[in-house]
Amino acid sequence: MLKVSNLLAGYGARPLARLSDLTVGDGEAAVLTGPSGSGKTTLLLAIAGMADRLDGTIEINDTEVGRLGPRARDRHRGRHIGMVFQDLHLVPGLSALDNLLLAPYASGAVRDRDRAIALLDRLGLATRRQARAETLSRGEAQRTAIARAALLRPSLILADEPTASLDDDACIVVLDLLLEATRDSGAALLIATHDGRVKQRVANVAVAEAMG
Ligand code: ADP
Ligand code: MG
Repeated sequence: MLKVSNLLAGYGARPLARLSDLTVGDGEAAVLTGPSGSGKTTLLLAIAGMADRLDGTIEINDTEVGRLGPRARDRHRGRHIGMVFQDLHLVPGLSALDNLLLAPYASGAVRDRDRAIALLDRLGLATRRQARAETLSRGEAQRTAIARAALLRPSLILADEPTASLDDDACIVVLDLLLEATRDSGAALLIATHDGRVKQRVANVAVAEAMG
């Protein structure tokens, strides 16, 4: 479960955006919306502990992450948060499968190769497991990033503009995959987007308020 209250986020001491109130239950999804530049990415990164929380509370299951020190926060993120970045952040030179297996390696978690393979298979990448990241199509790379985010059965999956630049059919596929990965992990899912098509599918909508 994710519970955010009066979050003020920014970089350094400079407040950029506010999210007043949001609760997302396990296996459920919410959208964080707002115009371009309103601070959606900043708020998402603050929830992940990668931008600064200047005020307010962020609870992920029973942990108030804003109270964790930097090392504990990094450890918590590696173990409990799955991220789908806007530019995906796949590592070139590594296969799709190895991109999945790098995450548990980095966070010291158990490497569940069978689950990585099963996730890639379910996301339609059975024949692309060994393909290097840079040879994947945009859609394949997106699905690899979703599989990677779901691998460790995180408590929370954060996805930044996952449907940007996708046509309507691909948009529905990616949303369905994200929602399925979320239910399968028992995670809470938060999607930052200004895409109206996503807002039509997800009832729980919160708004990023730009500051200043
Ligand atoms: P959105 O995702 O809604 O388009 P962002 O969170 O990316 O909005 O940006 C909100 C504001 O934060 C913008 O004014 C942007 O210029 C600023 N910003 C984004 N990244 C940084 C950064 N790393 N350091 C300082 N300011 C930033
Ligand atoms: Mg953004």
